[in-house]
Amino acid sequence: MNNISQIRPLLEATVKPKVVITTHHKPDADALGSSLGLFLFLQKLGLDPNIISPTDYGDFLKWMPGESAVINFEEFEERSAGLVQEADIIFCLDFNSLKRINKLGYQVQNAKAKKVMIDHHLEPEYFADYFLWTSQASSTCELIFWLIELLGQTNLIDEDIASCLYAGILTDTASFKHGSTTATTHRVAGFLLEKGAKSNRIYEAIYDNYSVDRTRFIGFCLSQKLEILKEYKTALIVVTADELKKFKIVTGDSEGLVNYGLSITDIEFSVLIIDRTVARKMSFRSKDKFPANEFARKYFDGGGHYNAAGGESKEPLEIVEAKFKEALKEFTQILTTK
Ligand code: 5GP
Ligand code: MN
Repeated sequence: MNNISQIRPLLEATVKPKVVITTHHKPDADALGSSLGLFLFLQKLGLDPNIISPTDYGDFLKWMPGESAVINFEEFEERSAGLVQEADIIFCLDFNSLKRINKLGYQVQNAKAKKVMIDHHLEPEYFADYFLWTSQASSTCELIFWLIELLGQTNLIDEDIASCLYAGILTDTASFKHGSTTATTHRVAGFLLEKGAKSNRIYEAIYDNYSVDRTRFIGFCLSQKLEILKEYKTALIVVTADELKKFKIVTGDSEGLVNYGLSITDIEFSVLIIDRTVARKMSFRSKDKFPANEFARKYFDGGGHYNAAGGESKEPLEIVEAKFKEALKEFTQILTTK
């Protein structure tokens, strides 16, 4: 892998390179914000990039400038495959394992394009030719700012680019709360505000924009479904497919639900298991001492950050729940020692 500073000649080639930007499935604000921030920036450089998302995403992200250009792979598989095959450069944003982009992963792997990974998750796979990677960055949006700065082009950041990048920094730091929020993060966010990003509007668009069903679903999960496994200092919510249907839950609606468990005194580990049709999807959040990513990797084919990780299983919901409770036993000591 080469350092990302070496991509400049690729971007500045006389024959304009064909660029594809992609990000992880069910993109969140950091994934989509970094993709759109880069997309708008490359347009300003005179390129004509395409963004392919492996799946759809929540409506609360649809305010983002440039969003209408995003191609959903599941809807336009043939067109997406063509773009990937023809691309000269493929940017892979906010993920570091090709598994995270589903079927699109094989196509990216086999594409002739130079691949550029920009990411902040632990344990990257080495599939890219160029990389900008550090687990120290708050978000991929912050890394896109670093890239633009490295290229000496921060003067090209306008309100639209700034808004996309600010959104990802805001959400991946949980509103500047996580330990990954550094002085640099604040400086970058400050710069983006100076360029026109509106902090209150972006916050509202993402967080004060729930449907009534989603709000009632949160209430239902907290009052009816939250299980406290006191001996493991663990909070668990298990949601069935029927419950998702009853509350008309759509993509993005369950985001943030897992955090409630962690806000309880003495809870060290919070877990959400959702019965999605294709698989049982798990979200893990932990306080300081518990390695959520290690747990996810060991038992549920997952991974992520130390305190925020995920995984999935093809087994039925009841089996997954039982397996989870069994796995907890191995971690009793870390969870319960002060
Ligand atoms: P969430 O719980 O919000 O879906 O995911 C939290 C974090 O866990 C994500 O930022 C991502 O790093 C990681 N993650 C979620 N699901 C998976 C998965 O299935 N595999 C891996 N390797 N990481 C995941
Ligand atoms: Mn991210």
